Amino acid sequence: MTDPRRFIPRTDDLLNLPALAGLSAPVAKSLIAAAQDLARRGEITPDQVAEHIAASVPRRASSLVPVINATGVVVHTNIGRAPLGQPATQALLDAAGYVDVEMDLADGVRSKNRGAGAREALLQACPAAEDALVVNNGAAALLLATTALAEHGEVVISRGELIEIGAGFRLPELIESARVDLVEVGATNRTHLADYARALTPATGAILKVHPSNYLISGFTSAVSVAQLRTLGVPLIVDIGSGLFHPDSVLTDEPDITAALDDGADVVLASGDKLLGGPQAGILLGKKDAIATLKRHPLARAVRVDKLRLAALEATVTDPEVPVHRYIHIDDAEYLARTRALANAVGGEVVAHPGRVGGGGAPEFPLPGHAVKLPAELAAPLRTGDPVVLARVHDGSALVDLRCVPPDDDEAVAAAIKAVR
Ligand SMILES: *Cc1c(COP(=O)(O)O)cnc(C)c1O
Repeated sequence: MTDPRRFIPRTDDLLNLPALAGLSAPVAKSLIAAAQDLARRGEITPDQVAEHIAASVPRRASSLVPVINATGVVVHTNIGRAPLGQPATQALLDAAGYVDVEMDLADGVRSKNRGAGAREALLQACPAAEDALVVNNGAAALLLATTALAEHGEVVISRGELIEIGAGFRLPELIESARVDLVEVGATNRTHLADYARALTPATGAILKVHPSNYLISGFTSAVSVAQLRTLGVPLIVDIGSGLFHPDSVLTDEPDITAALDDGADVVLASGDKLLGGPQAGILLGKKDAIATLKRHPLARAVRVDKLRLAALEATVTDPEVPVHRYIHIDDAEYLARTRALANAVGGEVVAHPGRVGGGGAPEFPLPGHAVKLPAELAAPLRTGDPVVLARVHDGSALVDLRCVPPDDDEAVAAAIKAVR
């Protein structure tokens, strides 16, 4: 009789099992060896080896499921806003263990250098700022700036800028949760310099100008510029939301930090994970004295950012091209060729599909783009498959847009569609 152990599949063949894709070679080999061992001991048959290996692949360490973003929305809040670039991803790993975040390694003593690398990177990227501070997120930056500059006093804001940023959170309610009174001026569509001037009292701590990043007021409108507000001689906080350091050639209506500082803002704040393309963070750039006041306030400690995001933010700011920027400035010829190739591979039609900046940036600003049009019924199985492919369901179709898909994932997208077609 032949020994059934002779039929145990060989390691080299098993390494190609789809279930092992994405695992490192040592991990894959240890899973293979364990299954082969069981087969040698007769506890499973040689036929069951591959199945046993697939079942023993460890689940991800967290419950968060990676998603291929085929929606054409670049900064999509529901799937984690900005995807990190390779340098930022590496920086996260490097900072995962012990790091010298608050230690001077030359002297072996505690340093006050927490966040120094990120701060220097920000000042390099934005020379118009005298100093910088990084906190937990944009909302925390707003809370800290208004509290530290206007505690027990008033903050003056235009009625056209009292925005809700999503999930029911309203900026005015956030600010009023601190010991700050909001004084609203102007009308929803029009606010003039004289409205602000009339509202100033000895209790005025600051004027706040907020970029209405997720909606547009059009028609009979007027707002007061940063440069005009500067003339009122009151500390000026500008929340631009999106985090561009300089004007963007495609997003021409989007405000930038440098312009706001040049026009005289004392503090400009922005999110780290919108158009900046980095990790969640609140970035405060501005005048030396104003940032110093923020750093000294007790709230600064409560909204502090951790070593992981300091590392990822520094790597993002020094990265010559982050994914968010690449997706907004995508090379159209290549994008169209990839879309056509996908349509050919899966049997779909190429249609024009405007992408979106999303995530509270450039509202209604369409980015000319392309998609593969598929039946709407495919969206659900694509969303629950492996890998997860998130298409845009629109007008009775599932639109698969490769704008925000790394080209290396094109084949995985095609395979996922074929598997559900
Ligand atoms: C997004 C946004 C915020 C909130 O920032 P988070 O980083 O999400 O906390 C605040 N203000 C404006 C104008 C925004 O666009």
